[in-house]
Amino acid sequence: MRIVLLGAPGAGKGTQAKRIKEKYAVPHISTGDIFRAEMAAGSDLGLKVQEYVKSGRLVPDQLVVDIVSGRLLKDDCSKGFLLDGFPRTAGQAEALDSILAAQGKPLDEVLYLKLSESEAVNRLLNRAKTEGRADDTPETIKKRMTVFNDLTEPLISYYHAEGMLETINGDGPMDEVTAAAFAVLDKIKG
Ligand code: AMP
Repeated sequence: MRIVLLGAPGAGKGTQAKRIKEKYAVPHISTGDIFRAEMAAGSDLGLKVQEYVKSGRLVPDQLVVDIVSGRLLKDDCSKGFLLDGFPRTAGQAEALDSILAAQGKPLDEVLYLKLSESEAVNRLLNRAKTEGRADDTPETIKKRMTVFNDLTEPLISYYHAEGMLETINGDGPMDEVTAAAFAVLDKIKG
């Protein structure tokens, strides 16, 4: 099963991705997690991306696409994957389409976790208190929301036009959101 999880920052992508990964046994590929791990390790890649991540701007497409395309070639992705936080721009979505077309393995589903901006911002502010992520400051949250609205939201119509989009209400309790996501994915599986 080849799945993309779309949603604004704070929509609960990370939480839902972990549950989907367990139930459907697909690797969870989060570009944000990859960048945070590289930054924590102080690697060259970490140094390259840290200014972007810390300020809430997007890492340049080419860099992200190279990382994801390498990751998708690994053995554990042969039966599927769950992409979380990628693609985030039209350029990334087109690159992903070409990578998968070359493998003859198109996406099965794009799950869009939809929730109001005010709820997303509240969740991010709460997460700032518990997790202490460097990019969960009020200023950066604002920037990430603008980036989402300007660059990532257009992907919703793109995938809708391709007939791949399923929208899930992300406002409810986590377990309800999970149940809705599982219901969509069970249909593909079955
Ligand atoms: P996330 O954990 O998905 O919210 O990502 C945290 C930060 O990592 C983002 O604000 C960006 O700076 C960077 N990032 C993650 N994924 C991407 C991507 N697909 N394209 C560009 N930048 C990304």
